[in-house]
Amino acid sequence: MTAPLLEIRNVKKYYPVKKVRGGEDIAVKAVDQVNLTVEQGEIIGLVGESGCGKSTLGKTILKLHSVTGGQILFHGEDITRYSEKQMRPLREKIQIIFQDPYAALNPKKKVLQSVMAPLDVTGRYSREEKLKKAAAIMEEVGLSEKTLEKFPHEMSGGQRQRVVIARALINDPELVICDEPVSALDVSVRSQVLNLLKDLQRERNLTYLFISHDLSVVEYLCDKVAVMYLGRIVEYADKRQLYGSPLHPYTRALLSAIPVPDIHAKKEEIILEGELPSPLDPPKGCLFSTRCPRAADRCRAEAPRLTELQDPDGAVRSVACFLHQERN
Ligand code: ADP
Ligand code: MG
Repeated sequence: MTAPLLEIRNVKKYYPVKKVRGGEDIAVKAVDQVNLTVEQGEIIGLVGESGCGKSTLGKTILKLHSVTGGQILFHGEDITRYSEKQMRPLREKIQIIFQDPYAALNPKKKVLQSVMAPLDVTGRYSREEKLKKAAAIMEEVGLSEKTLEKFPHEMSGGQRQRVVIARALINDPELVICDEPVSALDVSVRSQVLNLLKDLQRERNLTYLFISHDLSVVEYLCDKVAVMYLGRIVEYADKRQLYGSPLHPYTRALLSAIPVPDIHAKKEEIILEGELPSPLDPPKGCLFSTRCPRAADRCRAEAPRLTELQDPDGAVRSVACFLHQERN
């Protein structure tokens, strides 16, 4: 059996916080004990409120910062402790697209320079080959070759994000981490860029880890969805299962907040009570217990583990909630 493209095992990323006078050292547990397996060709959605650790997980996979604990495997190879030099060849294979294309592009560089940059790093291509590849990738992302001569400020937000996508794909990566890639764009161009990402994934058989706080975007694009809350995955399922029969009260609350186009459609709206707790002082027991409409004494004392269970149709999913663990 071949290894999955990406495997995240029990990964933790804690940010140390300065010692409070006289007190203990504390840490923000931005990502805590996360497990996730991504097979080649899949689109996995990662959702959750702002601050729940989505970007941290993305950056941890790319090893843009150190890992506090756990393992990251790429093609079955443990890359967790790789040095920057060891990571270099892998950086061609794993790319990231950030939310803000304006910040991602150097304002002083023409598009051509930005798009070709990943090829420059490899040192494998002649100037002619690079120009040819740049022209081809522009066509693939729906921009004219003339765009290569432009500066970022001469383009619209949608065009800039297409340039960022071109740069991410020019060197044929296998895994693309998309961190809120359409959230900063005008609503009018969001669906065009989403469709582009979808088409590119199909044509190039790419694998995406697609990070978004927008559940309708994730429903449109992804095959499977992981829901995060305060650094942990609380539910993981195929899209159909997750949107059709969400199990975790947090997932249910998130889904109930999506506006429905049909004003006559009845929908139970679950309002999340209370503020998102501070990750510096997370609740005891289940992290969601302070806001959960169904929390019982056990939930405030003990933390449920992410546990696999089977739907009546045989499909496997996971949830971290005592309400759904009797069946196991
Ligand atoms: P999301 O992408 O889901 O909005 P982030 O991964 O950006 O969440 O942040 C997760 C948590 O980690 C937040 O509480 C955030 O304040 C904290 N955090 C993120 N980056 C840092 C950092 N460099 N130093 C300290 N805390 C950080
Ligand atoms: Mg983020």
